Amino acid sequence: AILEISLNGGNEMDNKVSVLISEEEVAKKISELGKQISKDYEGKEIHLICVLKGGVFITVELAKHLTIPVSMDFMAVSSYGDETISSGRVKIIKDLDESIEGKDVLLVEDIIDSGTTLAYLLELIKGRKPKSIKLCTLLDKPERRVADVNVDYIGFQIPDKFVVGYGLDYAQKFRNLPYIGVIE
Ligand code: 5GP
Ligand code: MG
Ligand code: MG
Repeated sequence: AILEISLNGGNEMDNKVSVLISEEEVAKKISELGKQISKDYEGKEIHLICVLKGGVFITVELAKHLTIPVSMDFMAVSSYGDETISSGRVKIIKDLDESIEGKDVLLVEDIIDSGTTLAYLLELIKGRKPKSIKLCTLLDKPERRVADVNVDYIGFQIPDKFVVGYGLDYAQKFRNLPYIGVIE
């Protein structure tokens, strides 16, 4: 399906977004991840760390499917700016509010591309002495991996294409699309 999306402002050209993963497929997958994670953490409490901004959509949806006690915190890092190519640099824009010492932490990401961001975050989080740390990502682009990171929960593996929607932006837009799309 091809949808015509017009960017706000009117100055920019219309962008065509084609659906890669539908709204229904995303919802089903996150529900399955929620069931699996609830099972794996049975008898424990889970502390979700949402990586802003892209991780918001999956974090919220995932949290609704968890049947164990959940707490949440948010962190913002920047690695790309508005570019579509990784700069390899990671900067903390917003740090966690609460200590994670002794907590079973699940880091929730929108996408793992080169893995640079995740590798950096992982080191930072491990240094704060959580009881455990696992990783969950909605999307994984294995072809582009540079850093050696082990991901525990993956929604979808996708080809090396620049995707938008379900939290993922292009120049801060398209995050609100309820599906994963590719700009043509
Ligand atoms: P990494 O450090 O793994 O290369 O990149 C992670 C970050 O890059 C993601 O959190 C996301 O912000 C951005 N990114 C990587 N690939 C894509 C993509 O296909 N689309 C969008 N919108 N962002 C991406
Ligand atoms: Mg991210
Ligand atoms: Mg971005």
